[in-house]
Amino acid sequence: MDEGSRASANWGVIGHEWAVDFLRRALRHGRNRHAYLISGSPSLGKMKLARAYAMALNCEKRNAADRPCLDCRACKAVDRGSDPDLLVISQADGQPPKIDEIRHAAHALALKPFASRYRIAIFDDFDLVAPLAQDALLKTLEEPPDYAVMILIAANAERILPTVRSRAQMLPLRPAPLELMKDTLISRGCDEERADLIARLSCGRAGWALKALADDETLAIREEMLNLLRDVLAGTRLARIKAAETLSKRVGRDKAELRHVLDIWQTYWRDVALQCLDSPVKPCNGDRRAEIRALAQRIGPANALEALKATQRMLQTLDTNANLRLALDALFLDYPGLD
Ligand SMILES: [Zn+2]
Repeated sequence: MDEGSRASANWGVIGHEWAVDFLRRALRHGRNRHAYLISGSPSLGKMKLARAYAMALNCEKRNAADRPCLDCRACKAVDRGSDPDLLVISQADGQPPKIDEIRHAAHALALKPFASRYRIAIFDDFDLVAPLAQDALLKTLEEPPDYAVMILIAANAERILPTVRSRAQMLPLRPAPLELMKDTLISRGCDEERADLIARLSCGRAGWALKALADDETLAIREEMLNLLRDVLAGTRLARIKAAETLSKRVGRDKAELRHVLDIWQTYWRDVALQCLDSPVKPCNGDRRAEIRALAQRIGPANALEALKATQRMLQTLDTNANLRLALDALFLDYPGLD
């Protein structure tokens, strides 16, 4: 491994080499921006990249190419979450940060760093922050103190005020390639067959893949949710409404959990639709191939595409949807029947 790739490895980010390269170059030439916007779907590693960059910015190594070193006081403090110069603003109790918290962060960014080069604030899920609260950051974005760095994280960059977006360096993350995901899992002790399944199911989301590798629950929930979907498809109207009720009680107001379930169904419907169209693409849900083939034959391409679209619609409107129970009712009634 050469010097460059060893330092890149210290970033601990799976995939996204171009983004790491871009940020490393900025560090090396002292051309850091005051604001970044890291966007992309959940579990891609946005927070991981943000923390690694924060670490690299404040790492005590003189040579920028060696940062982050993972070994100095600053790197260790970021890793432990105890760096006084790094502020992380994120959801609490499933609620996005309110205007007071954004204002508080803006004040904190105006203070000189206590122990490091920069005062850094990472704003997680900034696209869920209300526009008025987003606006509270505008003045700091327009006239940032020399030592302030803001890293905004968003699943959907379009939901960030254009005035905010235009002042940030955009870093749109894409899913990691299948082979990279698979190799990463194998290098962490996973056997090849399981690595292949997890890599496919992850759809390139490293965070999801590593979670699935670390605990059995992630795959168990997937199994349970695919079985629930099977029951819904076989069920009567009344059974579907009951299933929607049970699921909405289970997820409560936790939209992240429901998003996870919808993601599972989305990949499944995509597999069914591809099967209907005789696509040569290998299904994500490779362990359910026979079931997918049978379902595709039974419902046909129009129904499969309609079910995929209905699932995507619900995913897209999830953040603004106030009544998840009703939305689930509608989704389950939209799904095709098997009679
Ligand atoms: Zn360091």
